[in-house]
Amino acid sequence: MLHVTASPGVSTITPLLLVHGGAGNPFGGHVEDEPAHHAALRDALLAGYELVAGGSPALDAAEAAVRSLEECALFNAGRGSVLTSEGRVEMDAAVMDGASREAGACAGITRVRHPVSLARAIMEKSPHVLLVGAGAENYAIDAALELAEPDWFVTERERSRHSAEHGTVGAVALDADGFLAAATSTGGVRGQLPGRVGDTPVMGAGTWADEHVAVSCTGTGEQFIRAAVAHEVSARIRHANASLPAAAVATIAGLDGGLIAVGSDGSFAMPFNTALMYRGRAAGGSVQTWIWSEEEEKSDG
Ligand code: ASP
Repeated sequence: MLHVTASPGVSTITPLLLVHGGAGNPFGGHVEDEPAHHAALRDALLAGYELVAGGSPALDAAEAAVRSLEECALFNAGRGSVLTSEGRVEMDAAVMDGASREAGACAGITRVRHPVSLARAIMEKSPHVLLVGAGAENYAIDAALELAEPDWFVTERERSRHSAEHGTVGAVALDADGFLAAATSTGGVRGQLPGRVGDTPVMGAGTWADEHVAVSCTGTGEQFIRAAVAHEVSARIRHANASLPAAAVATIAGLDGGLIAVGSDGSFAMPFNTALMYRGRAAGGSVQTWIWSEEEEKSDG
């Protein structure tokens, strides 16, 4: 399940991008249309990777990859988000820039087409880290971000689903200058109470980036908030001298979900405790995507 890229030992940094499309236990143990999920992950990887490969900052790549996944109705973010107990979509998103430790997030969003870009606008243009609800949406209007009617986010597939599943999308990137960024976006948990906010926009819970590691999480948000999961991965690396894969695995032990993490040395991990986690990696010109756990081992083996 885990990977560690060899440290190159030279000054050239190979950009790397990881994405996830949520961890979960699908009803009946199978996924409808796996090829479409692989294709969507691949599109997201390509959208972000061409930016870091061309010398753009990690944050640009992470945002571009998440925008691509938000646009895809197969995943629980943007269009296709799960519905609250009142049948509406309420979205949360966050970005964090490792080099500057600047962060931005939004929660309870109902009509901003790309919540991840609102999170970035809040980070870059406001004095705040987190805006919610109507205030966040007014901020999106002031920032001239694209809006959509609340109904546009609601798909037929979600209207007909009633199980309490979840999912989220995220990306972490290492750029050619060795800087890191993380971005996460979600519709939360199916059937959640109106106003519920999960781990995604809580910095250090579902999203984190510093000069050592960038992390994006997916899973039962309440657990991830209580364990400060994304920051805990960094803490284990910085204070306990753990390797990135060891820190990632130890941190999610016993939790319902998974995470993706990349380090400034190019090491990375994508552990999860659920039946599946949609995920992929782009580095050195190669793009790979996975859904189930054993596939990743096979691809590496
Ligand atoms: N972590 C998200 C939340 O709790 C949901 C998920 O990733 O499945 O809002």
